[in-house]
Amino acid sequence: MENNNSNNNGRNQKGPQTFIILAAAAIITLMLFSFINNLLVDSSKKQITYNEFLEMVDSGQVKSVEIGSDSITIIPAPTSGNNDSVLTVPIITYYTGIVEDDTLIQRLLDAGVSVEGEIPDRVGFLESLLVSLLPLLLIWLLLSFLFSKMAKGSGMMGVGKSNAKVYVEKETGITFKDVAGEDEAKESLQEVVDFLHNPTKYATIGAKLPKGALLVGPPGTGKTLLAKAVAGEAKVPFFSMAGSDFVEMFVGVGASRVRDLFKEAQKAAPCIIFIDEIDAIGKSRDARYGGDSEREQTLNQLLAEMDGFDTSKGILILAATNRPEVLDKALLRPGRFDRRVIVDKPDLKGRVEILKVHAKNVLMDDTVDLDAIALATSGAVGSDLANMINEAAINAVKHGRQVVSQSDLFEAVEVVLVGKEKKDRIMSKEERRIVSYHEVGHALISALEKDAEPVQKITIVPRTMGALGYVMNVPEEEKYLNTEKELRTMLVKFLAGRAAEEIVFDTVTTGASNDIEKATEIARAMVTQYGMSEKFGLIGLETVESKYLDGKAAMHCGDATAAEVDQEVMRLLKESYERAKQLLTENREALDKIAEFLIEKETITGKEFMKIFHEIKGIPEETDTDSAEEVSGAAKEGGEAVTEIQELPVNLAKEEQDV
Ligand code: ADP
Ligand code: ZN
Repeated sequence: MENNNSNNNGRNQKGPQTFIILAAAAIITLMLFSFINNLLVDSSKKQITYNEFLEMVDSGQVKSVEIGSDSITIIPAPTSGNNDSVLTVPIITYYTGIVEDDTLIQRLLDAGVSVEGEIPDRVGFLESLLVSLLPLLLIWLLLSFLFSKMAKGSGMMGVGKSNAKVYVEKETGITFKDVAGEDEAKESLQEVVDFLHNPTKYATIGAKLPKGALLVGPPGTGKTLLAKAVAGEAKVPFFSMAGSDFVEMFVGVGASRVRDLFKEAQKAAPCIIFIDEIDAIGKSRDARYGGDSEREQTLNQLLAEMDGFDTSKGILILAATNRPEVLDKALLRPGRFDRRVIVDKPDLKGRVEILKVHAKNVLMDDTVDLDAIALATSGAVGSDLANMINEAAINAVKHGRQVVSQSDLFEAVEVVLVGKEKKDRIMSKEERRIVSYHEVGHALISALEKDAEPVQKITIVPRTMGALGYVMNVPEEEKYLNTEKELRTMLVKFLAGRAAEEIVFDTVTTGASNDIEKATEIARAMVTQYGMSEKFGLIGLETVESKYLDGKAAMHCGDATAAEVDQEVMRLLKESYERAKQLLTENREALDKIAEFLIEKETITGKEFMKIFHEIKGIPEETDTDSAEEVSGAAKEGGEAVTEIQELPVNLAKEEQDV
């Protein structure tokens, strides 16, 4: 969600800081100033007794005196016979207290001393007033400022003021048409729109109206967009706030913000209240996820407000989260967020539609085939796709064209997936050879094993995101399930890069770390989640905890079992590696030929690859593998899309940071 308030916050926080620093600097300067002043005064003035003063007068050592209200300042006469020193030694003036002495003036006049009375020094008085009062004034300003800030923050004085962070839109102007794909989500929100339009219709029958719906799905799938579309369709105002906005350092702020939000919304009803990232406040209150009293208070306030308001007014609360599993059960019970709308990653058709929505305002020529782009971007979410279209438009401008073409789009896909090309990076000949063999190793397995996807492109142009080269595979169709055989082929394919290095160069590099990581992930999931190992059979040893975020899995088995799982995973990987080496050795000629070709060209297409491959194999052209096994697309679970991009990143490219 775009939050126009966050900027303001930043500015507000900068204000007091500079103010405090300035004030402190001013105070310190003033103190220094008066200290130095005192020092100077002290060194050039010396106090003497009245007796000594009279003696000086009598012995003619005094040139002049200045009689003030509380002291007499004495300017001594230059010492006779030592005239040079007058110039070098600074004149020390003396002073002494006033003593009741009527004869003094006559005595001074007799001694030929010039006498001067003091004129009250107005400037000096003001100056001293300023010096003594200014620091106090500054401190007072500072403290009052800090206090007012604290009072506002903690809601002591500003109960109604904290709504600065609420983001209100009178008319979002977004409709369901702007949200592509996500048909199920739109369908279940459609009735909510109807209810906002016409709350009384439902109320008269006696139907209980829904209070809230929870939008659940990975980041960037359009949850905020959907919430805005609901408001836009119903033509009601849209109040939004992120869960994290409620959480502040001071206890009680969150609760008061919840109260404010509902108060404001009730005034504007019918309306939508949208709370993004509700997990920030709605986390389960048990200790497992760490408790904290401020958050609990905020949550309690939210629950109380949800129970308290009258639905017949037409207020609907939408909330978004990508971690539904951590939410407090109290939030989910009927009468609160009882509806759950899943906003999942778009499938092929969804991606095509999202691309179309965003392509609407971009000029495109007729080479553009959005279906092909959608096919190549399995796993991408709405915000990625929107980003790609925009990147493509920028690419077109950069190339000096007026319309976007398919090549711009493909370039954008690659930029989003693997970063920009780094053409200026010069790799040594040997490194280019290694990278080339590594990538062709991956690609050959795809071609050899029928279950793998056909190769689209192979390149050894390094990328900014760390890959030194990669193979782009494009599936012929969207897959929701993977067979065990496919997973095993994937393992072989991931490890084939390393295998090629070992076969050809008889040495291995650090470039396979990412491949190893991915292969291990798959192998582990096969053993612990998919029941695909003979040793463990169908036991579930891991559960995926945050399905919509990183998909990290947590083990729940004894230590001994965990150790055995590791053994089993190792065995699987080892087998796959042996298989990769075997396949590549059997096809050494193809490996060499294609790798040489790739070194020369830097980037080759799938067609060029297959041409060489078929030549060597003696297969006539046009015996395509189009009859790839159909996999039913009925079930959605399990088919975690596996990245189509294999990269050879990191350490081979240690010098990357320097370049
Ligand atoms: P979320 O709230 O789920 O993290 P957003 O709603 O903020 O995601 O989506 C970010 C942007 O991505 C949107 O502004 C929109 O441009 C684009 N987008 C995401 N999903 C879709 C979709 N289904 N249809 C069209 N655009 C989408
Ligand atoms: Zn690799």
